Amino acid sequence: MPVTDGPIYGNAIMQAPDGQQLCRIDEKRADWYINHPEDIAYEIVDGEGPRIVRLRFEPSGRAGTDDPFQQGDKRNECAVCGESNGGLTRHHILPWSYRKHLPQQVITHCFHDIVPLCVRCHGAYEETVDSYKATLCEKYDVPIKGIQPKLDIPLGRATNAAFAIVRYGEKIPVKRLQELKFIVFSYSGSCDEDTLQFLTKSKSHVSCGKSHGQMIVEKLALDDLQEFFEGWRQHFLDHTCPQFMPDHWSVTRKVNGT
Ligand SMILES: [Zn+2]
Repeated sequence: MPVTDGPIYGNAIMQAPDGQQLCRIDEKRADWYINHPEDIAYEIVDGEGPRIVRLRFEPSGRAGTDDPFQQGDKRNECAVCGESNGGLTRHHILPWSYRKHLPQQVITHCFHDIVPLCVRCHGAYEETVDSYKATLCEKYDVPIKGIQPKLDIPLGRATNAAFAIVRYGEKIPVKRLQELKFIVFSYSGSCDEDTLQFLTKSKSHVSCGKSHGQMIVEKLALDDLQEFFEGWRQHFLDHTCPQFMPDHWSVTRKVNGT
C-alpha cells in the first residue's frame, strides 16, 4: 500500500463561465486549465478557501452539479481514525482484483469508493478481506485461487515432434523420425502434411487460467453490481467503524453505469 506524496482528494473548485460550481479537481488539473495555451480558464482569487478555476467556455454538460458528495469539500485524513500526518494511502473499497475486470464506465470517476487511510488502519482492514472473499467464493461458487493455467503435456509433445519433422525431417535418422511420427499420430490420429502444419502453428500448450476476481465478475450481471459494491462498502464499515468518512458518502450510492 504505497503512501501518496500529495493529498488524496483534490479540493480546487471548477466553475462554469456563469460561476456555477461544476466539480472538484486536484491541483495538477487546476494548473493544467490555468496554464493552457488557448487560455481556456482563469483563476479567481478569493482570499480564503479553496482555489477556484473558472472556465471561459461552456462545458458540454453539468452532470453532478446537484450531487452533494461530488461537490463537497473532502478532508485529506484517514477515514477511520482521522490521522492526517505521516502520509495517507489510497484505499479502494472494491478491491483492484475485481475492479480491473469491470466495464470502463463503472470504474471511471468512482472516487466515491476510494477513501484515504493511514498505513495502520489500511493494514488492519486488509487482514479482514480474505474472509469476505471466502464468503463470496461460496456465494458465487468460485474457487479462491481461480483456475490455474494448465500445461497440456501431450499437445506440447506432439507440437515439438511436428516441429522437428517439418524443420529437420530429412536430417533425422529413420528410427527417430518414426518415433516422432508416432508421437504426432498418437495425439492427432494422423501425421499428414495438414496435421503437421496445424500443430506447428499451435501458439500455446498452456490453457488459459482465470483469477478469482475475473471469475466472480463474469458471474455478475450488470444488475448485480450495485449489490456487489454495497456488500464491500458495508464490509468496510463493519470492520473499521470509521469515524471520519467523507460527508454524504453512502453505502447505497448508485454505481456508475448501472
Ligand atoms: Zn487511520
